[in-house]
Amino acid sequence: MEYRLRRNDGEYRWVLDTGTPRFADDGAFLGYIGSCIDITARKQAELDHQLQNMELARVGRVTLMGELAASLAHEVNNPIGAIVTNANVGQRLIAAGKIETEELKDLLADIVTDGHRARDVIQGIRNMVRKSEPSRSLIRIDETIRDLLRIVRADAMKREVIIETKIDVDACQVMANPVQLLQVLLNLTINAFEAMSAIRRDARRLVIRTGRNGDGQVLVMVRDFGPGFPGGIVEQLFEPFFSTKVEGTGMGLAISRSIIEAHGGTLSGENCDDGGACFTVRLPETKGGKSKAA
Ligand code: ADP
Repeated sequence: MEYRLRRNDGEYRWVLDTGTPRFADDGAFLGYIGSCIDITARKQAELDHQLQNMELARVGRVTLMGELAASLAHEVNNPIGAIVTNANVGQRLIAAGKIETEELKDLLADIVTDGHRARDVIQGIRNMVRKSEPSRSLIRIDETIRDLLRIVRADAMKREVIIETKIDVDACQVMANPVQLLQVLLNLTINAFEAMSAIRRDARRLVIRTGRNGDGQVLVMVRDFGPGFPGGIVEQLFEPFFSTKVEGTGMGLAISRSIIEAHGGTLSGENCDDGGACFTVRLPETKGGKSKAA
């Protein structure tokens, strides 16, 4: 029995009491033989441990909130940046009296699409907080890449990056949340753009390639010709808040990896032999069926 007793001087102590009943040959109860050990120190250590666990849980929650806030800031920044850029272009063209109705329509359409993208990202994070599963559908990788190119087109031109795509003609399909998948590819592309800002303009090339491996997986590779990352830190790149950029959040790759893993896939990165970094998304291929856009 473990119990607490109060001593004469008013101090409480915890004791562990063990006892064995003793009986006489005729079965008469003689009493107990046992020991009474003071276990106050052990009890205190247990209590401290419990408090520590509670503190850890609290810190865990705070970190999670911090990660969510950082992730929201990171993911929404991009569409909002695109909206502001497009709106600025529109303002300048109107001020110069140079804008055609068609061009204005395109600008507005891009602004609406980016606004929806920001809304979808926020919705995705809300779902994550509520622990509800983001909806998945059968999507064609080539169409996701087409959406990606549309989103990054203006940025690529501004940064003077040439984008080459090598897409498997026999379209690969995966079960995925389209917004999340786009988010991952966008993170990889923007990281590649940023990595190449330090190199010669005419060497800035991004190659996006899709294909399959023999294990029933669809592969999307995003390869740049930037400086690559320092050898030996590849796993660190995927840790939350790891960033080598002055204004980096260090969340892009961490979020991307957790999204891909939630889809049953993997995200890895490596330096290429002839320079630059290559990030590879691997997702289980879903055969047959009709894609949402088929
Ligand atoms: P952030 O871009 O905010 O720094 P990420 O999680 O997206 O956060 O990236 C973490 C780090 O990984 C970057 O700061 C950079 O050091 C490295 N990194 C990511 N992509 C590349 C790349 N294409 N080439 C070189 N380094 C990269």
